[in-house]
Amino acid sequence: MVAPMTEVDLRRLASLSVTKLHGVGDKKAKGLAKTEIHTLLDLLTHYPRKYLDRTKEAHIAELMEGEQASVLVTVENTTSRRIRGGKVMINSIVGDDSGSLTVTFFNQAWRERQLSAGRQAVIYGKVEIYRGRRQMTNPVVDLVGDKTGRIVPVYPQSEKAGLHSWDLAEWVGEALRRTLPPAGRGMLDPLPAYLLDEHDFVTRGAAFSGIHQPESTAEIAEARRRLVFDELFRLQLALVLRKRAIERTEIGLAHEVDGPLLNGFTKELPFDLTGAQRRAIDEIRRDLARPIPMHRLLQGDVGSGKTLVAVATMLAAVDGGHQAALMAPTEVLAEQHYAGIRRLLEGLTVEASGSLFAERPLRIELLSNRVASAERKRILSGLLTGEVDIAVGTHALIQDNVLFGSLGAVVIDEQHRFGVEQRAALRDRSYGDEVPDLLVMTATPIPRTAAMTVYGDLDVSVLDELPPGRTPIETRWVPAPGSLDQAPDDGGGDEGDADGLSAAEIAAALEELWDDVRGQIDEGRQVYVVCPLIDESEKLEVASADATFERLREVELDGYRVGLLHGRLTPAEKDQTMELFRTGHLDVLVATTVIEVGVDVPNATVMVILDAGRFGIAQLHQLRGRVGRGQHQSTCWLVGQVTTDDGGARLQALVDSTDGFELAEVDLDLRGEGTILGERQKGRNDLKLASLRRDRAAVAAARRAAIDLIDADPGLEAHEAMADELEIFLDTEDAEFLLKG
Ligand code: ADP
Ligand code: MG
Repeated sequence: MVAPMTEVDLRRLASLSVTKLHGVGDKKAKGLAKTEIHTLLDLLTHYPRKYLDRTKEAHIAELMEGEQASVLVTVENTTSRRIRGGKVMINSIVGDDSGSLTVTFFNQAWRERQLSAGRQAVIYGKVEIYRGRRQMTNPVVDLVGDKTGRIVPVYPQSEKAGLHSWDLAEWVGEALRRTLPPAGRGMLDPLPAYLLDEHDFVTRGAAFSGIHQPESTAEIAEARRRLVFDELFRLQLALVLRKRAIERTEIGLAHEVDGPLLNGFTKELPFDLTGAQRRAIDEIRRDLARPIPMHRLLQGDVGSGKTLVAVATMLAAVDGGHQAALMAPTEVLAEQHYAGIRRLLEGLTVEASGSLFAERPLRIELLSNRVASAERKRILSGLLTGEVDIAVGTHALIQDNVLFGSLGAVVIDEQHRFGVEQRAALRDRSYGDEVPDLLVMTATPIPRTAAMTVYGDLDVSVLDELPPGRTPIETRWVPAPGSLDQAPDDGGGDEGDADGLSAAEIAAALEELWDDVRGQIDEGRQVYVVCPLIDESEKLEVASADATFERLREVELDGYRVGLLHGRLTPAEKDQTMELFRTGHLDVLVATTVIEVGVDVPNATVMVILDAGRFGIAQLHQLRGRVGRGQHQSTCWLVGQVTTDDGGARLQALVDSTDGFELAEVDLDLRGEGTILGERQKGRNDLKLASLRRDRAAVAAARRAAIDLIDADPGLEAHEAMADELEIFLDTEDAEFLLKG
């Protein structure tokens, strides 16, 4: 490899193979390839997993029995022997200046090779003392190699690939020597100078050196801050560029946003809009007035009043002589929307085309697979001629034979159930050339900064305020087994049971729960009981729901009218049961999570979720949202013994808060961004250091910076290095994928 003549940019690093580095033989090269490290860029962005500060490691002689400790040691010798059952036991004697320690592994024969005499390693585990000797069993081992620096980077290493942390440190060192001064001319910094200034960032070269070969922990932090921003900035640039490209190429409708329908509707409402609704409608009005198609996400908790915002959007389209469509993920939801919207818009009229001054009633139709074919024909023809103003429906709306005369606005409810293709498909159903405006609604809020990443191609409006007069749902957690016929574990262990209740206390809490349920029914209210979630098989889940149903009918809810709803029933059976519950002919609905989305029975005031520890925060919050929809005080009972701290924290979060946005933040804290980005996306994007959880402020800063830069220089013509870098990291497919959320 020749010292570069000009500043090295990432493209150049991406063109140089790691096999050119000293000490990368055939075998190591294979290991590198397996680890997806092919180029110097891959190598330099293979960041240390952690750092060891040698001055801070404990000494063996100081280790206390029972403590979790990490010590830096040198291996003295390692032996292996067979024990009963054909298993292998490895014993390694390791030491430091202060003493020695026995480390034992079971069934990890490869440790004998790993821990050969003379190797340096950091050992992390629980200290045991046996016959006066300190020892650890199956500790975590990081081989660090014989380094002399104070701070030693520890790289993610793969024993299988035959790569050790010290190999990586060595190669990274060589790569840096060759690209950074004095040997090379330094590393190109593509970030505009004003951003470096504004954020007081170190240069790119200093950042790579600081993350791999730090002199101090402060240097690591500064390096990380810079590299995190780079990752997020590239991502936001790609997202914002994509958004602007769509805005440039799609021709939309400039809607009438001050028309009689919309104005009349908001004026005639029997209540005031919430501040959040007013803000969202204003944002949407502004979008609708522009000839650029709207792409907006409306996030709002269950009950925050998204429907009104959707209706306002659709009326604006109708005001201008166009049509609107609302697509929901299930028949039940579509029917509910249809009924609700008809009620809201009762009595409204529109100008009848053809005859001046004549008016006709606003026409709303429901299109789902349940609509009989004669009726369907009539609706389809009305859509084409424009006589149908608003269509509400399911996937039936995006079938080939559906064509709107002039579709002006599209609303999609419960966005995560539909893919990007389906969003696009509905917008394609218009006969007109203009692309309809799009509003996507979700009742599963995600944190703002996460939304900027996952929905980077959408503008976001937030309904973070509930209409007045709601009584918050009271949530209680009973740490009993999720299955009703199972005896409770006596609490008090260290497994993270709620408060270590005794079996008798748990039984009393359950008694209180079913007392409350019976009391509510006696007052005329209704109750949901959600059965344990069984991922492995629907058959098992149905069997368990059946068992819960039988048990409740015979024991806890003997004498009450109990119905059962699960995924194996025919649609007709489901309908019938739902209808019985809706009309008050059932007191209790025992159900699997099929009721998760959208069912609206205001008289239902108790939600019992069995085995609640199995559900995620968002899902529990959704389920809880099925109650608290009428004027009566509602209660949600979470029944479940948890086995992890996280499980306990999840259920406690539900007890502590009814705010979906707050819960989304907790969820992000507990589970990380994987759940939001999805595993596939996480694996493919360029976020190696940045975390949507830890780096929230950086996400927002990067988004702002990306918008500013692209507003000032839409083609990135004055920022060629930046544009070039985007291409390296985000190939089209990735960028495309990121947009799917
Ligand atoms: P979401 O779809 O967001 O869950 P909805 O649009 O179904 O919520 O609204 C829930 C309930 O609140 C409906 O009964 C609706 O009529 C009522 N509502 C909506 N906005 C207001 C408001 N500003 N003031 C009072 N009630 C409202
Ligand atoms: Mg809704």
